[in-house]
Amino acid sequence: MSNKPLPHDLYPETLAVRLGVERSQYGENSEALYLTSGYVQPSAQVSADKFSGEEDGYTYGRAGNPTVSSFEMRLAALEGSEAAIATSSGMSSIMLMLFSLLKAGDHVVFSQSMFGSTIKLIGSEFARFGVESTMVPQTDLAAWKAAISPNTKLLFAETPTNPLTDVCDITALADMAHNAGALLCVDNCFATPILQKPMAMGCDIVMHSGTKYLDGQGRVMAGALCASEALVMKKFLPVMKNAGMVLAPFNAWVVLKGLETLDIRMKAQSAKAHELAAWLEQHPAVSRVYYPGLKSHPQHELSMKQMSNLGGAVLSFDVKAGDPVQARERAFHVLDSLQVMSLCTNLGDTKTLLTHPASTSHGKLSEEQRQAAGIGQGLIRVAVGLEHVGDMTNDLLRGLA
Ligand SMILES: *Cc1c(COP(=O)(O)O)cnc(C)c1O
Repeated sequence: MSNKPLPHDLYPETLAVRLGVERSQYGENSEALYLTSGYVQPSAQVSADKFSGEEDGYTYGRAGNPTVSSFEMRLAALEGSEAAIATSSGMSSIMLMLFSLLKAGDHVVFSQSMFGSTIKLIGSEFARFGVESTMVPQTDLAAWKAAISPNTKLLFAETPTNPLTDVCDITALADMAHNAGALLCVDNCFATPILQKPMAMGCDIVMHSGTKYLDGQGRVMAGALCASEALVMKKFLPVMKNAGMVLAPFNAWVVLKGLETLDIRMKAQSAKAHELAAWLEQHPAVSRVYYPGLKSHPQHELSMKQMSNLGGAVLSFDVKAGDPVQARERAFHVLDSLQVMSLCTNLGDTKTLLTHPASTSHGKLSEEQRQAAGIGQGLIRVAVGLEHVGDMTNDLLRGLA
């Protein structure tokens, strides 16, 4: 069968549709979905060599699967990392990273604007095992620096953040981490490697929720860590083999196929998000729009430099209101008036999804904590999909007008 090796100088867009494990003897054009938990070994010696690590190859589903490998190869190629390891969800990839790199007494510095479950996992769950942590304001580099102590092993940032799209300086954080002998991990979920390549800015580990843009159509959960061959093979894989948060082959196959259209989806959805953000910014019923592509965004210049001149596909806006009670009423009215777009707490879908952060993702915070985080009752997050922007604005006008 045709299994000619790929040339070494291909562009990322080409690798995104071409890179993967070898075709099977049947010559399938679309990558095979290998649903199997075990693998037959040709001899006892080969089996022994695979288990001892002297020979590559598949043995058991917790240690590897060809469909999962294809996804890992493609994602690593897009992020520009030596290797990648796939996990069952974005959160389990963070768990794998923390388990692999930290022990009791180690310290993590991370942004207070990170994904809610990330904050809980580090600040509460790992705290039970003696892992210390400090939360800092996302964009305050001096605060990041001041939080670093001799036992700091990891800096963890997410940029842009959810839902206010705050952007932090990856290069500066990488320098800061390395000067302290620590590693930097960036959650690249919102920007994806199409807009932002943290590895090229000095970052050590890129973390993904494959559930979002990598899949791109809201079908399966997936996660991944991209890093050096040494980190993946010597730190992450040994823990994965014992802890078992593997990505199911079917889900790997879905995100693998999702990567093939990531480039055109991210560019198209970013363009639509920019258009919608500009429309919202001039609407009299809207008091503020949060979108890195707009000149009004506090880190607009840094965003454009760091994110390939695109703002991404997520924006948020505040409806104009006199007080929090009225703001909540007006935001709820906008959401309840939608006839096309979905009220849904996911993001990264081709369908546009809207949420009310103050009553969902940030619902457990006290009103005081919410104010400090800048999440008002009138705030609405829009994860822009691929519908016509005219239909998006008409759908919003039903409740905004
Ligand atoms: C969704 C998300 C996660 C968690 O990923 P799951 O696949 O839901 O476990 C982490 N970080 C960000 C920024 C996310 O949006």
